[in-house]
Amino acid sequence: MIVPISQIINKAKKQKYAVGAFNTSNLEITLAIVRAAVAQKSPVIIQTSESAIRYSNLETLFAIMTTLANTVGKKVPIAIHLDHGKDLKLIQECIKIGYNSVHIDASLEKWQKNISLSQKIARVAHAKKIWAQAELGTILGAEGLLKLEMGEIKMEDLMTDPGKAAEFIQKTGVDTLAVSVGTIHGHFKGVEKVDQARLQKIAASVKVPLVLHGGSGLSSQTFKTAIKNGISVINIDTNLRIAFKNSLQKTVNAKMDKIDPRKIMQPSIDAMQKEVEKMIKIFGSSNKA
Ligand SMILES: [Zn+2]
Repeated sequence: MIVPISQIINKAKKQKYAVGAFNTSNLEITLAIVRAAVAQKSPVIIQTSESAIRYSNLETLFAIMTTLANTVGKKVPIAIHLDHGKDLKLIQECIKIGYNSVHIDASLEKWQKNISLSQKIARVAHAKKIWAQAELGTILGAEGLLKLEMGEIKMEDLMTDPGKAAEFIQKTGVDTLAVSVGTIHGHFKGVEKVDQARLQKIAASVKVPLVLHGGSGLSSQTFKTAIKNGISVINIDTNLRIAFKNSLQKTVNAKMDKIDPRKIMQPSIDAMQKEVEKMIKIFGSSNKA
């Protein structure tokens, strides 16, 4: 059932586990996430990127998420979140339609601009009694990895400065903070490391729950240590993409005679559900519904 995101995240922070925030862009992924939450009796956050909204249309995607949450998922707490909102108009549309939380990602802007944009969105969100997430430091994607490897940029320079986090939260008034502590968006086996000491320092300096982005590919031990050091929400996208694609490829190869899209998609839904359940167990949110 859809509930305020504060209810889900505050409980996780208090009891020292993390809630998974899983990305969706269609019916099948949403089914997998909601069914996994029900099977694990776990709270869950369903989130959409701006490109997912462009792919499926905001009204349609919002209806899929809320309808599934309030029917199939009626026994578990579920909240809907906008991931990496950069388009101010779209962020406000998400707030208006009924999202429970929005991420204003102005992390590529200078300090002052990041503060003013994050503060602006926090005010709009709070007027509708929902939460806003901001980002301090930069979390790279695949293109950034190449620059890192070429030595054009240094991870150290991109990470969240623990000395600035408290001032940033105080000035923006946001409810959660996306931190840059060494992870990269996308799946990069063995390359990623979490700067746990930095994470501890950030967590000690602010009261708001911290969000880990770019988590796909980390070991379960790294997740557990990060949760112990102050992470309350973990974003997962790539894991589900891989589960979907691998399963789809297998099904299509094995059943060349099948043309019913439901028979082709079902194993992929099951594979993604299994992956979500696996992450829920690692994050410690099973039986916390
Ligand atoms: Zn992210």
